[in-house]
Amino acid sequence: MRMRQSGSPARITALAGGIGGARFLRGLIAAAPDAEITVIGNTGDDIWIHGLRVCPDLDTVMYTLGGGISEERGWGRQDETFTVKDELAAYGMEPSWFGLGDRDIATHLVRTQLLAAGYPLSAVTEALCLRWAPGVRLLPMSDERAETHVVVDEEGGTQRAIHFQEWWVRHQARIPARAFVLVGVDDAKPAPGVIEAIEGADAVVLPPSNPVVSIGTILQVPGIREALGRTPAPVVGVSPIIGGRPVRGMADACLTALGVETSAAAVAAHYGARDAGGVLDGWLVDDADAGDVDTVARLGIACEARPLLMSTPDDTRAIAAAALDLAARLRS
Ligand code: GDP
Ligand code: CA
Repeated sequence: MRMRQSGSPARITALAGGIGGARFLRGLIAAAPDAEITVIGNTGDDIWIHGLRVCPDLDTVMYTLGGGISEERGWGRQDETFTVKDELAAYGMEPSWFGLGDRDIATHLVRTQLLAAGYPLSAVTEALCLRWAPGVRLLPMSDERAETHVVVDEEGGTQRAIHFQEWWVRHQARIPARAFVLVGVDDAKPAPGVIEAIEGADAVVLPPSNPVVSIGTILQVPGIREALGRTPAPVVGVSPIIGGRPVRGMADACLTALGVETSAAAVAAHYGARDAGGVLDGWLVDDADAGDVDTVARLGIACEARPLLMSTPDDTRAIAAAALDLAARLRS
């Protein structure tokens, strides 16, 4: 195994959604500045808007690590204006609930043009990252289109599936989700480099991203879960649930749809121990959930309690360092 003298892994692979993933990745880079980090990004949130291909989670990671993110919103560009959005609204163009900023639109124009020219999303993402230099290799989970849809109840007792963004952004996850369906996943393959990054890693990390519609989506791409099962690297996750609540966002609405309780232990059980066909060797819970440590350990997952609020860059670096430290101990 390739190891640095300090014991920190030389090659780290992380799965990531948007805001929670990107914030954690900033800490990971700070905790392991010499490591080669590969990020496998969720593309289940992707959507066509006004003829543009939008990849919200990839862009959140790219902008956050590249210094272009709006720190207040956590998504989109800093110093953003919304002139195009206002003009589209004046035409009555839908969807009016999905706001694309003027600066952000340039990214989607580049992406859409390159895709139309025949480049796969992985190559397009690499090209976009030339500008942002995020300090990691950012790979989409797949080059094929696989988009999350949410099954909701309609009046009259029927159900219909709406795009994840319509449920999340337009309805703020307030309509109960009955199921999540990743449309297209059966025909999706992991993007080039994804399986190799998992199999060749010294440590695999699951950031505190949404376990259902971020990490859970990536795990559905045929071959990715299997690669996590066989990699010689330890797989360590960080709980996105603290004290029975998602810190930001509406992950509880997603977990409820799957019948999973919103707790750090229940999310660990949902991921499962690698020894038992799941994906985790180790799991970090917040100090507030120290009472969950024994429950998780009984599942066969090494579990430790740490402060897990990503409030400052230092706090976030410490969380990533704790995950790497647990991985190093699991490897030896
Ligand atoms: P999204 O794609 O933008 O929704 O972002 P992710 O899926 O990557 O991350 C969202 C998750 O991050 C939420 O479900 C939160 O539970 C989690 N999260 C946000 N802030 C924090 C934090 O400070 N600490 C921890 N442990 N989790 C957080
Ligand atoms: Ca997302």
